[in-house]
Amino acid sequence: MLLRRWAAALVAALALAGVQVVAATPAQAAARILYYDASQAQEFIAVVNQGAQIWNSAVANVQLQPVPAGRTPNIRVYADNGWPRTYSTSLGNGRWYMGREAVVDGYYPPRIAAHEFGHILGLPDNRTGLCTDLMSGSSAPVACKNAVPSAAEKAAVERLFRTSVTVAPQTYVWVGSAA
Ligand SMILES: [Zn+2]
Repeated sequence: MLLRRWAAALVAALALAGVQVVAATPAQAAARILYYDASQAQEFIAVVNQGAQIWNSAVANVQLQPVPAGRTPNIRVYADNGWPRTYSTSLGNGRWYMGREAVVDGYYPPRIAAHEFGHILGLPDNRTGLCTDLMSGSSAPVACKNAVPSAAEKAAVERLFRTSVTVAPQTYVWVGSAA
């Protein structure tokens, strides 16, 4: 903090002196922006936005933003009466469904939304049964209300988006214990 303040003061002083300052360290690579379209998520639009915000707060190398008008989204989100599921086409691209089957069973909607976004971000299902794992999905108790990725899950997404790794198309289905 002190160092940063000192550096800022130095930059300001040099700027006053008319010296052009070039940052000594390269700026951190900009986050990759993925645009999502929640307009067809019906009653779940707010919870889809919540799922995106959870990831935006959790990682720096990728950010999920609502698609601007006229732009093709990376991710489309739908809702239907089946199980929540994701069809990813490549890292950061695909579509997912907010399935009412799980919501009716009592699974926590923000956890479902963040989980399905997690698949788009390259994470597979990891049925540990632990509520602290976001990607444990339906293997955690129905009462689990954790919608935040674990440190390991955050780190995995940061790693995937630090480089542009190739991720093969995948289908993931959230199947609850009532199935
Ligand atoms: Zn899943």
